[in-house]
Amino acid sequence: MALIVQKYGGTSVGNTDRIKNVADRVAKYRAQGDQVVVVVSAMSGVTDGLIKLAKDIAPLPSEREMDMLLATGEQQTIALTAIALHAVNIPAVSLTGAQAGIVTDGVHTKAKIHNITPKRVHDLLKAGNVVIVAGFQGETEDGQITTLGRGGSDLTAIALAAALKADLCQIYTDVDGVYTADPRLVPSATKLAEISYDEMLELASLGAKVMQSRSVEFAKKFGVVFEVRSSLNDNPGTIVKEETKSMEDIVVRGVALDKNQAKVTLVGVPDKPGVAARIFKALGDAVVNVDMIVQNISHGTGIPATDLSFTVDKPDLLKAQKVIAALQKDIGFKDVLADENIGKLSIVGVGMKSHTGVAGKMFDVLAREGVNIGMISTSEIKISVIIDLAKGAQATAAVHKAFIG
Ligand code: ADP
Ligand code: ASP
Ligand code: MG
Repeated sequence: MALIVQKYGGTSVGNTDRIKNVADRVAKYRAQGDQVVVVVSAMSGVTDGLIKLAKDIAPLPSEREMDMLLATGEQQTIALTAIALHAVNIPAVSLTGAQAGIVTDGVHTKAKIHNITPKRVHDLLKAGNVVIVAGFQGETEDGQITTLGRGGSDLTAIALAAALKADLCQIYTDVDGVYTADPRLVPSATKLAEISYDEMLELASLGAKVMQSRSVEFAKKFGVVFEVRSSLNDNPGTIVKEETKSMEDIVVRGVALDKNQAKVTLVGVPDKPGVAARIFKALGDAVVNVDMIVQNISHGTGIPATDLSFTVDKPDLLKAQKVIAALQKDIGFKDVLADENIGKLSIVGVGMKSHTGVAGKMFDVLAREGVNIGMISTSEIKISVIIDLAKGAQATAAVHKAFIG
């Protein structure tokens, strides 16, 4: 008998037939004598639909109220999944994140899990139930409903698997596992049998939305081995685990394109100590995640001026612009430009630590495709470039072909 945490994403619970399919899959594990905790997302399109409703009313809605609104998506699915299990004679109880003991900090829309006290989950399992937990949500110590960032049901599942010391953690989605690139973008992409936490973390934070990056961070920290697999067939998926020596033989494990970035450029920023600190501290205080930063060579006489560009997640662009606008008079830069038509193309692999010439090859492929590179950033196991969004698919396919095939 094993304790299994299974997470089903939006497409896997996208209509009532899919929810019945989830119940049938859970029933098979129950028939083997396993205990099952099911984490579900909102039905596909529901979270986006709720965000749209709010933005139709106000472009920058209160983040507390957004959490109150978005948490309802998952609450529908837990009840429907419990009803589907009851229909096949399996005792099941649904719980909100708060009822499952998920306690978070108070950063609305991007809350971090502080701790989980899964007593109620344990008790319900012991009494013979399947326990269904709403993904993506928790509650602060003082009872405010929070959400864990887009794709946050992955985090709920991994954190619960850690807290419950589950024997297995399975992330069911609408593809067979983690591929060398998004299979919808690069049809020749192949499924990986296994991938290291670090590679999965880079791919996830660089746009491969198959896993939420914070969930992978959590899995690495607590050593939760998990499998990404399809809810629509029984093919083996991809195991995500600690790096092994043989993983270094492959230079590029995967390619990712992030279309969810925007670039902000401050024109004519006085080039003197403390200015960058003020800009990025203000953005940090507003909980805007800044990724790449590029400062140009300064020019002019007197106090020289420079242009400063940085990237943020697209949904944070309006907030970032508001923060920057409030600093303009004080700091004295000339203008602020925003560009949403960018893509971040990345290659990832632990093998880069021991192979040379990888960046040169990537840039050469892009040059031959006529793709201009706007910004570059690297780490030990990844190279990312900002390019024109319109050329994103073409560039991703070319880079995938050159490194993977
Ligand atoms: P879920 O609703 O199950 O959480 P998501 O839509 O969040 O599913 O993630 C699954 C999607 O991630 C796939 O449909 C696929 O298009 C996309 N994806 C992006 N990069 C990859 C990759 N490297 N491997 C597999 N899927 C990927
Ligand atoms: N429903 C949330 C979202 O769409 C969380 C999730 O699906 O994991 O982002
Ligand atoms: Mg997801």
